[in-house]
Amino acid sequence: MLSSVLDPQIVAQAEALLRQTQKPVIFTHIAPDGDAMGSSLAMYHWLCKGEWRMANSESSKSVTVVVPNAYPDFLAWMPGAESIVVFEGNEEQASRIIAEADLHICLDFNDPKRIGPVGEKLLLNPCPKILVDHHLNPVSFATVAISHPEASSTCELVYRLMADIQKSQTDELCLTNAIATCLYTGLMTDTGNFSYNSNNPDLYEMIAGLLRAGVNKDEIYNAVFNQWSPDRLRLTGYCLYRKMRLFPEHHLAVIALSHAELKEFHFKSGDTEGIVNLPLQIRDVYYSILLREEPAKPGTTHPRIKFSFRSQGDRPVNVYASEVFRGGGHMNASGGELYGSLQSAMNRLLATYPKYLKKE
Ligand code: 5GP
Ligand code: MN
Repeated sequence: MLSSVLDPQIVAQAEALLRQTQKPVIFTHIAPDGDAMGSSLAMYHWLCKGEWRMANSESSKSVTVVVPNAYPDFLAWMPGAESIVVFEGNEEQASRIIAEADLHICLDFNDPKRIGPVGEKLLLNPCPKILVDHHLNPVSFATVAISHPEASSTCELVYRLMADIQKSQTDELCLTNAIATCLYTGLMTDTGNFSYNSNNPDLYEMIAGLLRAGVNKDEIYNAVFNQWSPDRLRLTGYCLYRKMRLFPEHHLAVIALSHAELKEFHFKSGDTEGIVNLPLQIRDVYYSILLREEPAKPGTTHPRIKFSFRSQGDRPVNVYASEVFRGGGHMNASGGELYGSLQSAMNRLLATYPKYLKKE
């Protein structure tokens, strides 16, 4: 039995909105990861006719998942991915769908700013909004907010929501293989294949439920983690061999990648995913930071420097990310950005890390 975590009143409010909706749109964050894609596609399959296992909900729903920009190739196999509307490049079609929706479901982000220009379109439509998310400090914009920063993943919360709603109908959670596969993917990726944020025994009860629904966990692992291009593996090697700088006093490792370097390795979205975690394998390294330069967008003058922060144990990086790099995130995994040269971003980091990162 799962312990009950979600507030029953909030679940009832979400359930009422999910029952009524005819034209929901599901949103998730920029650069969608396994949890973003997994929670969105699980919700998509759950709401689509035939997969919605609640009484009195037989009417057909027209469900759309909108993502701000392209999802990485290593998630393209996910069931339903082909039906996703990518906003970047399809602005007109996506804007129309967002404007015509009667319900917005926001998954794995808690601030409209985290979905870029899609956020503005979302706020233009006054329809009700359900938020399901596990990031700290949610911005208040949703009608119904299921916000649990202690949860491993948004997929965990979506699983709990489905289980709580179905509990009133039947003792058994009915998950199709597609829903279960999507949920498992998010649980697996947001916990580093169950190596962090994964001490809650409930997670393993959920996994048992997903396996009973027919999930092939070994196949999912292979599909997500073992499909690298040779360039991606070489880029990773280059980062570790040539680019990693160590600051032993603060237990810190830093890797900075210029756009020119990324081009050399034919960088594609998702290729740097996970690189920031690798230095944490070194004894006595507890903080790791990756900087990645993106060229200036047409009409703008400065390149964007994307920061990724990782840490171990009781060493928060989200305060550093939000106070210095206009970002945020979880205690041990955060992100941020600066506009300017890679060198100036590096200078800012060098000038500030001693204040924010612990020596012990
Ligand atoms: P990543 O390093 O994988 O891009 O991001 C790690 C975590 O930090 C993610 O959970 C993400 O939600 C959060 N994050 C990344 N970039 C930003 C940002 O610019 N602003 C905020 N608030 N959070 C971010
Ligand atoms: Mn997540």
